[in-house]
This record gives sequence, C-alpha cells and structure tokens, in this order.
Amino acid sequence: MEERIIIVGAGQAGGELAAGLRKQGYKGRVLLLGDEAHPPYQRPPLSKGFLQGKVALTDLYLKPLATYERFDIELKTGTRVEAIDRSTREISLGDGSRLAYDKLVLATGGRARPLNLPGLEGARLENLFSVRSISDIEAMRGKFVPGNRLIIIGGGYVGLEVAAVAVQLGLRVTLLEAAPRLLSRVTGPEVSSFIEQLHRERGVEFRLSCEIRGLELDEARRQVRGVSLACRGVPERLEADLVLVGIGLIPNTELASAAGLAVDNGIVVDEYACTADPAILAIGDCANQPSAYTGGRIRLESVPNAIEHARVAAATLMGKMEPYAAIPWFWSDQYGLKLQMVGLSTGYEQCVTRGSAEGKEFSAFYLKDRRVIAADVIGRPAEFMAAKRLVSSRAEVDVTRLGDATVPLNSLAA
Ligand code: FAD
Repeated sequence: MEERIIIVGAGQAGGELAAGLRKQGYKGRVLLLGDEAHPPYQRPPLSKGFLQGKVALTDLYLKPLATYERFDIELKTGTRVEAIDRSTREISLGDGSRLAYDKLVLATGGRARPLNLPGLEGARLENLFSVRSISDIEAMRGKFVPGNRLIIIGGGYVGLEVAAVAVQLGLRVTLLEAAPRLLSRVTGPEVSSFIEQLHRERGVEFRLSCEIRGLELDEARRQVRGVSLACRGVPERLEADLVLVGIGLIPNTELASAAGLAVDNGIVVDEYACTADPAILAIGDCANQPSAYTGGRIRLESVPNAIEHARVAAATLMGKMEPYAAIPWFWSDQYGLKLQMVGLSTGYEQCVTRGSAEGKEFSAFYLKDRRVIAADVIGRPAEFMAAKRLVSSRAEVDVTRLGDATVPLNSLAA
C-alpha cells in the first residue's frame, strides 16, 4: 500500500513541510490536517499589515489553494485531530473517524496564554482579545476605531506591534508591562529604551513594573470596562473600550503527552525533529529541540525556525538526516521600522552599539568572552547579514571597531 505521511497542524511549519516533501520528490500520500478554517498562512502580518487593513486575507496564505492540488497534498481544513493511537499507528478526528499513518508529524504550534485573574471564571468577554489567528483579528477589528481606549497587557513584540498599528489608527493606547522595561526577556536595556521612546513619541502610554489587580466587568459580565493595576505599589484604574492580552504562548503539546510522548516546554525531539517514537516527528513552535547554538535545548517561536524545522523534517522523512543547525533569528516591524534580531542575548557580558538611536538606525551587539552572541539590528537591514555571520562564526571581535559605524561590519565578520 502507498506510504502515508500525516501532518497535524496546517500552519507555517506544516504547510512548509507538505510542500517541501513534494519538492524533495516524496511519492507517497501527504495529508495536511488543520483545525482552522484557512489553508496555511503567515501569522506575522496579523499584528501588523492585516490588522491595519493593508494586507488582504488571501495575501496571508502561504501558497495559493491551487498549489496543494498541483502538489497532490490532501489539505483538510476545519479538521481537528483528537488523539493518536501509537499501537495501531492511527489518529482519530473530531468526527470520530480514524486515519492510519506511516509517519506522523506534529506541527500544532501554540495558543495565546490566557490572562489568569480571579473573577474571570465563566465570563465571555466580547472586548478582551488575543492575537494568534485570523479569527482573532477579525473579532477585534470592529473595535479598532479612532478614539477607542485600548489597553494592551504585555510588552513583548506582539503587544508592541499592535500598539503601533492602534495609535496609527487613532486609538488611545496604554500598554501594561510587569517587568521594569519592555522586551526584557529578549533584549538589552538600550534597545528596550529605544523601543519605549519610539512608541512614546507616537503617543503610546506605558505602565512598567505594573501588577494587574483585576478587570472591571459590566453587569452582564460581557464587557471589560476598566483595568485596576498598581505600578510600584501605586494603585490606578484605567478605563478601557477594549483589552488585548499579549503575554506569550502555550505550546499545543496535549496530543503528544496523551500519546505518551515526552513533553518538556514543547514536544521533545532530537536534532532531526524525531520524537522517541520513530514514526512521529514534531516541528515548529510546539517542539523543544537540541540547539547547536546554545548547546542546550530550546523551543523557538519564529517563522525562520518553522521553515528550517520543516526543512529538517522533510530531509529526515526522505531518509537524508540533516541536523538542525541554524542560528535563531526573528524580525519585527513597528511604524515601518524594521527590527531584526539574531542569536539569544541571555547571559551577555557587554553590549556594544553602533549607529544612532536618535536617527532610528542603530545596532546593539551582545558579547560574551569578546564574542558576539546576539545582535539587534534596527533600521539598518544592510547590516543584518554581517551581524548574522558575526554571531554564527563566534569569532573574537575588536570592540572599538565594532562600535565604530564607519568600520564596515563585513570586515569584522570576515
Ligand atoms: P502555527 O503557525 O501556530 O500553526 C499550528 C497550526 O496547528 C494552527 O493552525 C493550529 O490551529 C493547528 N492545530 C493545533 N492543534 C491541532 C490539532 N489537534 N488538530 C489540527 N490542527 C491543530 N515570527 C517571526 O519570525 N516574525 C514575526 O514578525 C512574527 N510575528 C508574529 C505575529 C503574531 C501575531 C503571531 C501570532 C506570531 C508571529 N510570529 C512571528 C511567530 C510565527 O508566526 C510562528 O512562530 C509560526 O507561525 C509557527 O509556525 P507553526 O506551524 O509552528 O505554528
């Protein structure tokens, strides 16, 4: 019988893998099952151009629908996989039917972390949103009208991107962040204060070191009317027309754990995207993999990771065994300014900047043992490739030359 690969999750990683298998010449059946109503699509524009109304729905799609037909990929949207039976190599679907697989790839991504506050139990709040899917954006769009008061909970990239779109659309935006600075888990203080200033100039207000004490609901418990908070112990109440929660992602690992696969902040896989079950792989946001870059294990949430992980899994499924070796990188767009990040700055000893924060084009390099372990490149896209090379080569650099914007970065990366 013809071999069958089933991919669970028709997102960025699942979509890339299905196409990648065909490009590599896979001749068996490829089933791509996703619980959303859409074919695989790009999520980055959700908090940027799509929310702003500048990117059309079909432009989000990774590939035109015809491509799945042309590649003979059996794409089933609106199809949720409920369970895996490893003993019979079958999955069960929401409608009770079962499908047999030879190889199964879990590309289930993650879901928005909900706000965990007492008193919200059982409330169905019509103006409390998160940003993970097309339907999330469609639900909130009607509220993105000039003058509306938007409170954003969480000062990570998604919250900041939504803040940028919202002030440009004329909303009054206040962003609440628990840490003393923005993006504190992923970047250094220099970049945090640059980003804060960038948003303040456009009218975004911030409450940092902010503890949320509760949401005030209307009598029917359908609308959030306000947020009570305290910044450094000082209580405050803010009125809200809508509230957006951007406090991170929970990986969708339940299918894997119920099937007895190891899960530890993601489905545990090796450098070839394989779980301990030789018939099951996991890729993308849901997978925790070994990292040649950190020397430990890592779970990444980015498009470049989803694409690279899909490439590795396609190779594995074709019997080529090419280990994951890419350096983590990510990008963000705020007010038309491109921010590109490579490497992970955790544990850095020194930060060297070049360029001008006032001129809105500068780079921050994070060093450990005189080697660049990570870089944030803001408004200087031409420098990004060289920054990537510096991070991947781990060569020692001359700190003075690194900080001198007249010295081409390429000459340091050589
Ligand atoms: P997903 O794209 O989440 O796809 C997983 C799919 O699996 C989903 O459709 C899910 O519904 C489905 N699924 C889950 N369980 C089941 C089941 N049991 N049965 C069937 N289907 C199931 N990355 C960047 O690099 N740059 C950016 O600027 C950037 N911006 C972003 C902005 C936003 C608003 C968001 C939400 C993400 C952003 N990202 C960005 C992250 C990037 O989009 C993700 O890392 C990427 O989508 C991960 O791909 P994935 O396939 O692993 O997961």
